[in-house]
Amino acid sequence: MKIGKDTVVTMQYKVVNAQGQLLDKAQEPTSYLHGGYENTLPKIEEALEGQDEGFETTLKLAAADAFGERDETLVQTISKKDFPPGVKVGGQLRGRTKEGQEQVFTVIKIKGDQVILDGNHPWAGQNLSFSLKVLEVRAASAEEVTHGHAHGAHGHHH
Ligand code: ZN
Repeated sequence: MKIGKDTVVTMQYKVVNAQGQLLDKAQEPTSYLHGGYENTLPKIEEALEGQDEGFETTLKLAAADAFGERDETLVQTISKKDFPPGVKVGGQLRGRTKEGQEQVFTVIKIKGDQVILDGNHPWAGQNLSFSLKVLEVRAASAEEVTHGHAHGAHGHHH
């Protein structure tokens, strides 16, 4: 079956940055609902559209087409006393940007009584290379289309 709107694509993938560092390699295949549901990057959907099981490709994406450029206004310094105890580097929390948008922040540094938070995606500002291999393509169920995501072993669990 060819990949098109409302198909569920199961793939194996690997993400490498411009320095050749492996950022992510899924041990298990992952499934997503294809067709503009924002389950994966638009450039990945574009490359897979019309392809079949067994298709393999390596996509080199500029930061703007992957996780965006870094936004330094999303780096914030907050006093440690405003955090619950046990705050540590690598921890994540939900907060708001200066514009009031909800955003996930990662603690990148703790310096004395100051905590430095970064609201950028960890891969923002990086040119990335995605190696993809399509393992399976099937028609989505009506329920999956309603939910806007794939179900099943490698999809969304409820
Ligand atoms: Zn669902």
